[in-house]
Amino acid sequence: MSGQQYTHTIDGKAETSAQSFDVINPATAQPFAKCPAASREQLDKTVAAARRAFGPWSRRSFAERREAIVNFAHALAARIDDIGPVLTLEQGKPLGQAKWEIGGGVHELEAMCQMELKTEVLRNDGKHRVELVYHPLGVVGAITPWNFPIILATHKIAHGLYAGNTMVLKPSPYTPLSSLLMGEAARDTLPPGVLNIVAGGNELGQWMTEHPGIDRISFTGSVPTGKRVMASAAGTLKRVTLELGGNDPAIVLEDANLDEVTPGLFRGAFLNAGQICMAVKRVYAPEKLYEPLVEGLTKLALSHRVGDGMDPDSEMGPLQNKMQFDKVVGILEDTKRHKGVRITAGGHTLNRPGYFIAPTVVADAEDDMRLVQEEQFGPVLPVLKYKTVDEAVARANDTRFGLCASVWTEDYEYGAEIAKRIEAGTVWVNHHVGSEADLPFGGFKESGIGREIGMLGLASYMEPQVIKVPLRA
Ligand code: NAD
Repeated sequence: MSGQQYTHTIDGKAETSAQSFDVINPATAQPFAKCPAASREQLDKTVAAARRAFGPWSRRSFAERREAIVNFAHALAARIDDIGPVLTLEQGKPLGQAKWEIGGGVHELEAMCQMELKTEVLRNDGKHRVELVYHPLGVVGAITPWNFPIILATHKIAHGLYAGNTMVLKPSPYTPLSSLLMGEAARDTLPPGVLNIVAGGNELGQWMTEHPGIDRISFTGSVPTGKRVMASAAGTLKRVTLELGGNDPAIVLEDANLDEVTPGLFRGAFLNAGQICMAVKRVYAPEKLYEPLVEGLTKLALSHRVGDGMDPDSEMGPLQNKMQFDKVVGILEDTKRHKGVRITAGGHTLNRPGYFIAPTVVADAEDDMRLVQEEQFGPVLPVLKYKTVDEAVARANDTRFGLCASVWTEDYEYGAEIAKRIEAGTVWVNHHVGSEADLPFGGFKESGIGREIGMLGLASYMEPQVIKVPLRA
């Protein structure tokens, strides 16, 4: 960890760079390791290696590629105990959750490669046979954020490679080290050039989006950066998927069972210190359940153990970086300026080094507060009161975001009806947060473009082609 040398994986080999940058432990706000910063020339070399590897890799069958990806998954699984602590040190999450994330990535690599995009016969009318076939696209540039560096990368790796593409993966400069270690597992198990992992600053991401040798960008990050990525990729008409931010509403209906709803909402809002694109970010509760729900959430928030992720007692770590910490502190200050708002738990930073904010519940929140309008991406949850379900749905939809949402009720079918009225890529009934290998994931509105995961995700890494053949009479 500290003192350990971290290297890029380029063309199957370890490589360092002339430039490097500090990686900071958010639990101490101190640097603990150096990360190499790839130069533009190194990116060119990496893209050239990925292009060379593309031909042979794309000619393999799905089954052959599956076998190689599963070997990679097993090599990653064998490294959980040494990559886990590095993920905790750079990201802040408790060690158990860091290991769980890597284990989840291993699972996704295996599970997402079970499906196959088969040739479809669109027409066979005696005159013509028309087939829809799928081709891999070429080199994929994958760009990931700092909240779940491993699992978000494995989503891209699994379908990107399985579809027959090769890849250049760039992690966030805040959390690059666990991804670089994942590259070591790739070196041992995948052909050189198939999966390259290079670290660097934001400019490296921009060079990738402009690069003429990259055919597709798979981006996960914030809405503003997503817009820049799309604009930059337009220069070469790269295929793009954007998995962006969210401001997920959770609507609790009058018949909901609070014994189940309260812990479900709490977990959905505070896991990973609230730094999840699909975290619960606004709760709408009916008048009848309002006070008991606020009371239940407050009790859980006050007993939630916050601390250094390396401490086995910690249930929640710090915010990942100073910029995010300052943003959430700013949102808290704005919240406190609103008269009538009640902060029933937390509302303050922790008096210790690092970027810690106490789990916070805000009752009597109002629609025009920053906390409700923006993606807080932190452990601060507003609870809003509503009178009618129609009103709750309208307020839930009154946002430029549309990633996920949830409806909580004992009447599952009625819940499904309400779910269909919410403008979001995924709406759960009696659940919030999670992704599954066979379910497409992505956002409505400014929460993204396209889908990852599931058949739609696999198809997004391929180009469809129509083949029309005349038939002899
Ligand atoms: P970010 O947009 O700041 O950075 C994401 C990545 O983009 C990083 O690797 C960064 O180096 C790179 N980057 C920055 N500028 C770039 C540019 N001009 N061109 C290309 N790449 C560039 O996001 P973040 O702060 O790291 O992550 C938090 C955000 O990600 C939140 O909004 C969260 O909701 C979102 N997110 C979305 C999903 C999803 O699946 N929809 C999942 C996780 C996180």
